[in-house]
Amino acid sequence: MTIQTNINRIRGQIAEAALRVGRKPEDILLMAVTKSVGDPQIMEAIAAGVDILGDNYIQEARRKIGRMEKTIPWHFIGHLQTNKAKYAVQIFDMVQTVDRFELAEELDRHAHGAGLTVPILIEVSIAGEETKSGVSIAEAPALIRRIALIGGLKIKGLMAMPPWFDDPKRARPFFRILRELRDRLIEENIAGIEMKELSMGMSEDFEVAVEEGATVVRIGRAIFGEREQTK
Ligand SMILES: *Cc1c(COP(=O)(O)O)cnc(C)c1O
Repeated sequence: MTIQTNINRIRGQIAEAALRVGRKPEDILLMAVTKSVGDPQIMEAIAAGVDILGDNYIQEARRKIGRMEKTIPWHFIGHLQTNKAKYAVQIFDMVQTVDRFELAEELDRHAHGAGLTVPILIEVSIAGEETKSGVSIAEAPALIRRIALIGGLKIKGLMAMPPWFDDPKRARPFFRILRELRDRLIEENIAGIEMKELSMGMSEDFEVAVEEGATVVRIGRAIFGEREQTK
């Protein structure tokens, strides 16, 4: 199975899921997740027309982006340590995993230094699992109101990872919780932010996520095959 074939199949599945709920397929962006994927495979995914690349590791992504011409946006989707904020600002077109004010402040400091406005998503812990990163549902609105006052960042929406289930349908209530949170935030009309994007859905459950309103799906294994367990 080639990467191109996988991407065509996934695009078809996204379109069908969108149409089932009356959404437009072109309103959903496909991100190829490149963690532990080699350059030739990444280039194949770009040629096959994915919309965005996403990586979890700053150093790895820095090397990859250094070797390849950047033709489509790269988003950071991993846990970001505050002391790596500088590199995230330099390398990535969006940081999808902002979940605490100190990180936002540090990103803002480097955005100002570089004369940039950095688009971000707020990562929400939808299942309240303490082992996972993300701000809780309860604390998300206050965090967003605080970050909205920061000039160097632009909030575009929310990102989340539901717990892992054998049956992807069981992730549905978690996707719905994220969408409902976004809709409540839209009603709050917080100045200086946009609340359009919902980054949710991975290889196993992206069709359910699209049915529940995902605007970006983040897909690794269904495009590139199983990852080697190095990390
Ligand atoms: C690895 C990863 C993905 C992709 O997961 P797959 O199961 O390979 O599709 C998506 N989002 C995040 C945050 C990830 O770390």
